[in-house]
Amino acid sequence: MQLEFLGGAREVGRAAVAVSGSGTVCLDYGMMVGEDEIGFPLPPSSAPSALVLSHAHLDHVGAAPALYRKWNPALVCNGVTYDTTKILIEDALKIARKDMRHMPYGREEYGKMKRARVDTGFFKKAMFGRMEVTLYPAGHIPGASGVMVKSDGKCIFYSGDFKLEDMRLVKGGYVPKNVHTLIIESTYAERDHPDRRVEEKRLLEIVDEVVANDERVIIPVFAVGRAQEILLILEKYANKIAFDGMARKASQIASRYGEYLADPARLQRILSRVKWVTDEKDRRSILNRYPIIVTTAGMASGGPISYYLSRLGKSECRIVFVGYLPHGTPARTLLDTGVFHTDTGSFKVRCTMTQLDLSAHAGRNELFKYIEKMRPKQVFCVHGEDCVKFAKEVEERFKVGAHAPKNGEVVKV
Ligand SMILES: [Zn+2]
Ligand SMILES: [Zn+2]
Repeated sequence: MQLEFLGGAREVGRAAVAVSGSGTVCLDYGMMVGEDEIGFPLPPSSAPSALVLSHAHLDHVGAAPALYRKWNPALVCNGVTYDTTKILIEDALKIARKDMRHMPYGREEYGKMKRARVDTGFFKKAMFGRMEVTLYPAGHIPGASGVMVKSDGKCIFYSGDFKLEDMRLVKGGYVPKNVHTLIIESTYAERDHPDRRVEEKRLLEIVDEVVANDERVIIPVFAVGRAQEILLILEKYANKIAFDGMARKASQIASRYGEYLADPARLQRILSRVKWVTDEKDRRSILNRYPIIVTTAGMASGGPISYYLSRLGKSECRIVFVGYLPHGTPARTLLDTGVFHTDTGSFKVRCTMTQLDLSAHAGRNELFKYIEKMRPKQVFCVHGEDCVKFAKEVEERFKVGAHAPKNGEVVKV
């Protein structure tokens, strides 16, 4: 069999791997979103009969329609991934049009992709030619899957983004057995996360204070996964939360797919109590009435967050970031310098800022635990900034072949 690393190798973003045996299956086809530019994966060298989407984050699905320019692979994913991917792609197309950025696909390819869907639940085998594909729960976000591909007597497993530890929104991921070759994400290869309960407690303490002192707190979140996780942590304050941006749509979708959630009834209960902010008028009216504002974008790179910062940023307000902020993102610059840059200008923000770690990725120890449980014969480390070092560590620790491929690299397994 052959693996072709098309994107996301030694980097976080535009994840894509083509697996070829008795046919070709493409695993993810994502997009890289930087502050000034966007990037896409290379095309596979042979026609894929299936495109498997591991989960609905832009770095895994953002370029998916591009494969439908030349080909028409079956689109393999579960319902929550499919529905959420649609809102992500529609939003990406809208932003590209607004910013006059070139995209490698348009509405026609997107339409073709939507029609190619094959519904695929966890643990169910699907055949594409003589290639067998099975999805397994990966934790991370609702619907997130690890993907097993079997062909020519070999078994390849692609971890996607995963987390083994249970979170409030989704249960921890599943580790399959008898895997020959593992392709593993390496986002947190260099460090462990702090104790989640401590981070949750810190968030609650800040919010307790804000509510007691009649202040305001802005919590910028990713629409898919993190937004809902934050609502679950702040459940006791549900009726004091204003909920804005794409996070609303993503939550509505997640709540329709209870089978992918740890506690669907609880999420629904909270969603029925928060204030849904839908337009500019709502935004103005909630400013003085709701102490907690949960909104996209997580990196402060668009969405209603700019509105809130411009209204509240100069006052005694608090901002709590709840995850990792890559260099070059407006949120990171804001945290480091206190200055917020938007399309229309920059201004100084006076709020007290805090950064917490409520990541949905496996930390360093979980990555090792995953490999130890799975015991593959060889490992490819992707989706990280320290893949080379991580591969070396995996090799020494488990006495297996481990490699950090480059984009464009083709490997026989
Ligand atoms: Zn992800
Ligand atoms: Zn990812």
